[in-house]
Amino acid sequence: KIALTRAAGAPVVMLLIGASLAWIIYLASFQVIASEISVGTFISFVVAAMLLFRPMRNLVNVNAIIQQGIAASESIFGLLDTPPERDAGTRTERRWHGAIRFAGVSHRYDGTADDAGVAALHSVDLAVGAGESVAIVGESGAGKSTLVSLIPRLYDCSEGRIEIDGCDVRDVSLSELRAQIAYVGQSVVLFNDTIRNNIAYGRDVSERALLEAARQAHALDFIERLPLGFDTPVGNAGARLSGGQCQRIAIARGLLKEASILIFDEATSALDAESERAVQAALAEIKGTRTMLIIAHRFSTIALANRIVLLARGRVAEQGTHRELIAARGRYYSLYSASEAHSMIA
Ligand code: ADP
Repeated sequence: KIALTRAAGAPVVMLLIGASLAWIIYLASFQVIASEISVGTFISFVVAAMLLFRPMRNLVNVNAIIQQGIAASESIFGLLDTPPERDAGTRTERRWHGAIRFAGVSHRYDGTADDAGVAALHSVDLAVGAGESVAIVGESGAGKSTLVSLIPRLYDCSEGRIEIDGCDVRDVSLSELRAQIAYVGQSVVLFNDTIRNNIAYGRDVSERALLEAARQAHALDFIERLPLGFDTPVGNAGARLSGGQCQRIAIARGLLKEASILIFDEATSALDAESERAVQAALAEIKGTRTMLIIAHRFSTIALANRIVLLARGRVAEQGTHRELIAARGRYYSLYSASEAHSMIA
């Protein structure tokens, strides 16, 4: 639309001005002929009228700039008008242990008027002890991401309740709740800033803690190889780094945040086999110190967990250790054999 106004605006206005000027000259020439005005007055009038050309043309461009401004402010105000999240919680506990309990949790994503929305979880009951690590597996669309995103209240569950250390997550203030949870997701959000600031995420952290988190995430090697090290800018949305490097920075950020609950939602999917092994080693190292929920596809990562929960169509279908589930020869066994067959072909 802007291009159209720009392209059409100037010629249309010039045409109008040209036409009116011609009309004025035509009328004035009669007066000159009738000697009502002198030739000098006539010429100065025409020159003055021609001087109007440029300001008139600029006025047309102003319209395009104003339209651009209006479009930009609409999106800015749209963002400013986003309703804030409901944060009625008041509890701010000092020390959290990180035991999580889902009690009859169902979740349905909001649909449109003629569509009731997607039911993603159906009465899930699940208890994860403090310091326990649980792998959540299942086919894509089974509800794994939904399950973990309900803990930091990215969504509120439609039915049932989720408790951390026996306390309903809706009763805890959002800032306190989220301070307790480190979430490393599939899509990594990096800011156009240095690696250091991306890992520290706005907090004052010691150099030692920073190095340790980067080492655990297997990011230290590549960071130290960069000419500016931790002070290297990552570019817009991490454009100067590879997908795997961005993911390792996000993992370092998650490990640095001293949260009692660590959620990994396919966080190792963009890593090569070697880096993934290193991250697995890091997870094995911190295992037991915090509650971990790991969504993963690779069985080497899954095997790290104390317990495996298999979701199918939003329900907990099976749970147990890797060995127990293999022995049960159920869905987990078929997933596992399929992936073994796949890795043999690959
Ligand atoms: P998984 O992580 O196991 O692949 P998800 O939890 O992402 O599964 O999705 C479970 C179901 O919920 C899917 O049917 C998916 O289409 C739906 N879903 C996920 N996120 C949304 C959303 N934001 N809005 C509507 N439906 C969603």
